[in-house]
Amino acid sequence: MNLELDEEHQMLRENIRRFAEEEIEPKAAHYDRTREFPYESVKKCAELGLMGVMADPNYGGAGLDSLSYVVAIEEISKVDASLGVILSVNNSLFCHPIEKYGTEDQKRKYLAPFAAGRKIGAYCLTEANAGSDAGSIRTSAVLQGDRWILNGAKVFVTNGIAADAVVLYAKTDPAAGSAKGISTFIIERTFPGYSLGKPETKMGITSSGSVEIVLENCPVPKENLLGGEGQGFKIALQTLDGGRIGIAAQALGIAQGALDKAVRYSKERVQFGKPISEQQAIQWMLADMATETDAARLMTYRAAYAKDNKERYTLEASMAKLFASEVANRVAYKAIQVFGGYGYIAEYPVERYYRDARITEIYEGTSEIQRMVIAANILKG
Ligand SMILES: Cc1cc2nc3c(=O)[nH]c(=O)nc-3n(C[C@H](O)[C@H](O)[C@H](O)COP(=O)(O)OP(=O)(O)OC[C@H]3O[C@@H](n4cnc5c(N)ncnc54)[C@H](O)[C@@H]3O)c2cc1C
Repeated sequence: MNLELDEEHQMLRENIRRFAEEEIEPKAAHYDRTREFPYESVKKCAELGLMGVMADPNYGGAGLDSLSYVVAIEEISKVDASLGVILSVNNSLFCHPIEKYGTEDQKRKYLAPFAAGRKIGAYCLTEANAGSDAGSIRTSAVLQGDRWILNGAKVFVTNGIAADAVVLYAKTDPAAGSAKGISTFIIERTFPGYSLGKPETKMGITSSGSVEIVLENCPVPKENLLGGEGQGFKIALQTLDGGRIGIAAQALGIAQGALDKAVRYSKERVQFGKPISEQQAIQWMLADMATETDAARLMTYRAAYAKDNKERYTLEASMAKLFASEVANRVAYKAIQVFGGYGYIAEYPVERYYRDARITEIYEGTSEIQRMVIAANILKG
């Protein structure tokens, strides 16, 4: 059993790390402060293939494996967690379902430009009254001739501000219940009746363009139904399995970034005549932070490895997401403690990590929902 990255993945890590430190990190605090969507950073990531890491090269993707994807999201999130989730949503929640369930025409039209990063995608499942209980969505889709007419509103849509198209879930047969009554649609922002609501003002990941998306009698061509009528809930859950690996990687990046910054600061900050890194209290914090981050990395790699080996990975993805997100919060909390008062000041980076870490326990299934998924898996059989 080899727990180290092979040479190919190590090289990928080094390249993305250099890119992230040189091209992304210098702008991260600016985007956090201004809350602007980081179009320029997204464009640079697209040039490296990071908008479609796992997508087929015939459709604009980089054709790499899930482990490469994890490495990429970790390295980017280490310096800019908002950008980490922007990439993760485009890769896992937009491109993946189109590649897996799309027709040839859908892949040519919607996978290729989005995986290449010429366009940006988003994922619309959550509604004001349907979050964890996604099966209770109310957005409706009614077939009229050769078009579906959609009505409803989706909230908290990551990338929503910038999205050229969204993968959206709607009820096509309310009487059939969630398992059979939901279908998936690809909707372009230029379709009539599609509009953006108020952008959300958030605690962290401030530049990820979260917004409400409203559909008012929005006509969607029949050929934009993704994966067959009534297949939507299955597609949503399967998509989230992969998405959770991306969020675990984002959380891992936040943890590693906060740890690195705390280690560096502890060697520079002198109190009582010596660097605080020589105080055992600080050393123990750093030791716990490093140990937990390492464990989160192993779990996240394991989930990616299971996916790459075509094994079932629902359980591994949930465990990795649950653990890594809680680790990111604990590590960012301790990083502030290591920085003392400066950790609380926006000029120093760790308060951004602390704010950014919080969301990883909430989206793509809260920690409570992950525990439900894990328990259901270990209790069945
Ligand atoms: C910044 C941000 C970005 C997001 N991006 C997207 C996106 O791009 N696309 C998208 O579709 N959604 C997105 N979401 C939505 C996100 O996935 C939901 O917020 C999340 O799933 C939780 O739903 P909720 O907010 O309605 O909370 P609720 O479901 O109302 O949960 C409230 C609390 O109750 C707990 N709870 C609920 N049900 C149970 C249960 N059965 N057992 C135990 N505890 C339970 C929850 O764990 C939580 O603690 C985003 C959210 C945010 C904040």
